[in-house]
Amino acid sequence: MNQAFAGTEILSRTGTETVTRPIDYIAIALFSMIVLVALIGVPVFGFTYGYTGFDWILFGILYVVTGLGITVGYHRMISHRSFTCPDAVKVALLIAGGWAFQNSALKWSADHVRHHAKVDQEEDPYNAKKGFWYSHCGWLLLKDPYADDKYTAQFKKDTLVVWQEKYYAPILISGFALPFLAGLFHGGWMSGLGCFLLAGVGRAFLVLNSTFCINSICHMWGDQPNGTDNSSRDSWWISLITFGEGYHNYHHAYPKDYRNGPKWYNFDPSKWLIFGLRTVGLAGNLYRVCPKTK
Ligand SMILES: [Zn+2]
Ligand SMILES: [Zn+2]
Repeated sequence: MNQAFAGTEILSRTGTETVTRPIDYIAIALFSMIVLVALIGVPVFGFTYGYTGFDWILFGILYVVTGLGITVGYHRMISHRSFTCPDAVKVALLIAGGWAFQNSALKWSADHVRHHAKVDQEEDPYNAKKGFWYSHCGWLLLKDPYADDKYTAQFKKDTLVVWQEKYYAPILISGFALPFLAGLFHGGWMSGLGCFLLAGVGRAFLVLNSTFCINSICHMWGDQPNGTDNSSRDSWWISLITFGEGYHNYHHAYPKDYRNGPKWYNFDPSKWLIFGLRTVGLAGNLYRVCPKTK
């Protein structure tokens, strides 16, 4: 069989063992679909029929809600347990993260803690040493031989994470159905299609890429004020589109800190939301490395 179709062969970090990463055709099909619709369908509809203010408002709301679902929910709440919150808030964040089309919290968090544990090594799921496109999105298209239950075990103890895993498919579908239905009731079928394209697929594509930028750009370009023992970088400008996750060098140094941008002036809306939730009694046990850095 042609090597390209048999999978990508790479040498392990020790150089003594060959590890095969077969191509994941389902992932390629899903990823191609969202890329094609986002890059062709969304602009063609825009030039042909145009998007309304309603479409753009829904796009903005869902970009913020699903983006924070990933950064505050999947990342800081589940993966790093940077704070605690009541079940209702946790469910809301798990649903918002599920709408982002980035897999279940269980899978996402297991990959993410492995990234921290094995950063820049062969077992790192989005190893930046393999180049920009691999760490940005190429890793998604190959099966991962290092997925190990030891990384999922801690999350399987969380009943709400297990609940979200069980109902991930309907949660994910509802993230695309809701903008369609909102548009449908607001202005009919074409409005439903416009909302689905812009606030559903276009929004999911942009949130996906904002997350991808952390794994690619924030491991290649930027400052390293908190250590050079791994490739993580602080990129303040990436924080502008990722709700504060651009301070990635600080985050690798202090992963459990509920802040990624520790200084008060760092643009980190995720820490502001967590702090705001605590202010109104909806979050607690905010973990901070050093109180003086706030
Ligand atoms: Zn990283
Ligand atoms: Zn992290």
